[in-house]
Amino acid sequence: MSTETDLEYGDVKNYVDGEWSASSENGQDVLNPAMGEAIARVGFSSKEDVDVAVSVAEEAFDEWRSQPVEERIQPLFELKHLLEEHQDALAELLVQEHGKTFAEAKGELRRGIENVEVACGIPTLMQAGHVENAAPGIDETAVRQPLGVFAAVTPFNFPGMIPLWFLPYAVATGNAFILKPSEQDPLVPQRMFELIDEAGFPDGVVQLVNGSVDTVNALLEHNGVKGISFVGSTPVAKTIYAKAAANGKRVQAQGGAKNHVIVTESANLEFAAEKTIGSALACSGERCLANDVAVVEESVYEEFVDLVVEKAEQQVVGYGLDDDTTIGPLITPEHEQRVRNYVETGIQEGAELVYDGRNVVVDGYEEGNFVGPCIFRDVTTDMVIAREEIFGPVLGLMSAGGIDEAIKIVNQSDFGNAASLFTSRGAEAKTFRHEAEAGNLAVNAGTAAPMAFFHFGGQKDSFFGDLHAQAEDVVRFYTDETVYIERWPDS
Ligand code: NAD
Repeated sequence: MSTETDLEYGDVKNYVDGEWSASSENGQDVLNPAMGEAIARVGFSSKEDVDVAVSVAEEAFDEWRSQPVEERIQPLFELKHLLEEHQDALAELLVQEHGKTFAEAKGELRRGIENVEVACGIPTLMQAGHVENAAPGIDETAVRQPLGVFAAVTPFNFPGMIPLWFLPYAVATGNAFILKPSEQDPLVPQRMFELIDEAGFPDGVVQLVNGSVDTVNALLEHNGVKGISFVGSTPVAKTIYAKAAANGKRVQAQGGAKNHVIVTESANLEFAAEKTIGSALACSGERCLANDVAVVEESVYEEFVDLVVEKAEQQVVGYGLDDDTTIGPLITPEHEQRVRNYVETGIQEGAELVYDGRNVVVDGYEEGNFVGPCIFRDVTTDMVIAREEIFGPVLGLMSAGGIDEAIKIVNQSDFGNAASLFTSRGAEAKTFRHEAEAGNLAVNAGTAAPMAFFHFGGQKDSFFGDLHAQAEDVVRFYTDETVYIERWPDS
């Protein structure tokens, strides 16, 4: 593996006006979750730090928006190559501060790079429409124009990918952009900004401001910020949505999730079990698309439970940079305790814990935040473990009479991020697509993760706003459509 990321403990820096500067002394340590060791320290930027970044961005915007669109995308082509060139080193760093496996980290970065690629197509994506002779002698054109300074506030679970759901589109459309990444794993964003610096954006067009709640509030309250993209937990998403709207900003706020997979008797059960386990346990369950409740048709329930337990037994819990590891640690000791509390709650509620990974010991990493897979059977819809987001390697199994009952269970959830169906019947798939209340649906796939050229869906308590991340939705979010009416009378 690369030595590019041999870590030396130091301060995570802000990137403002093309320069690196230490963020405030007030802050917290960044920990390697497999070792419990501090690997860096991140400062929490103050309101004054935010004021400086926003005024620099406002100034940079004036010139940037007037650059030909072809010129605005050249640094993105460069960034794509730089991200690819440094993908292994970035993935290694990601494992060190987040905990997921190296393969998962590489996959995450690939999905991020995909967004840079799609944003390179902005000359086409920005086209809005033209009607000749819309009225006698009149042509009408819609023009998509950038608005100014946008900010994104992103979560810990995909520090490499989620900033790229926004950044490339915001700048390609001609806006200036400020990222406030998660304070839990800010090193990958910092490294990506070193590459952004190399890619050749004018100073002030893309900036990095580290911080926590006060930093986010300063962005939300700043008149110079035109809009906020947020991804994180539902309670915070709701707050951001309300505050941003109250301050007259555009806002798109993606929240938490509780996703279901439905398995009907017509499904290839072996395949469905493999994909279900993969979906629930990948990234230790710390994914907003993790399907952590499986609703299985009664006639195949027992067989499916056995298959899932067999697959759970094959998992290897360990450090993400070790080759065999399939499940890494959870992000913090507090979150580990939270997941353990949910497992205890499930037992108290009467679900049967048929596979118990709580006592896993990882030799050499005794200080890590590890929890092995935990599989519950006979979960019912009233249970806390069936309703709340656990964000850990915990899968609940429940049985249902058939597709209609299963979809009813899915739709009882307060969340609407994703759902999957395993079936070999087209009619069941059609019903599922029409009836299931979630923004990302998949048939015979464990995780409904849309490619970057589709928007990333989300409904109910999983999304607040109307235009989503990625693709055309986010282009519309970052632009205003001016309607231009033109007549040339003979005079
Ligand atoms: P979080 O809500 O704790 O934090 C997200 C961001 O908000 C961070 O940058 C953090 O600094 C900031 N923040 C935290 N509390 C805040 C507050 N009170 N006011 C203002 N800003 C605040 O989320 P997390 O723990 O980092 O991430 C996990 C959550 O994100 C899960 O619920 C997961 O489902 C969700 N998520 C959703 C999606 C999606 O697409 N819907 C994608 C990834 C993660």
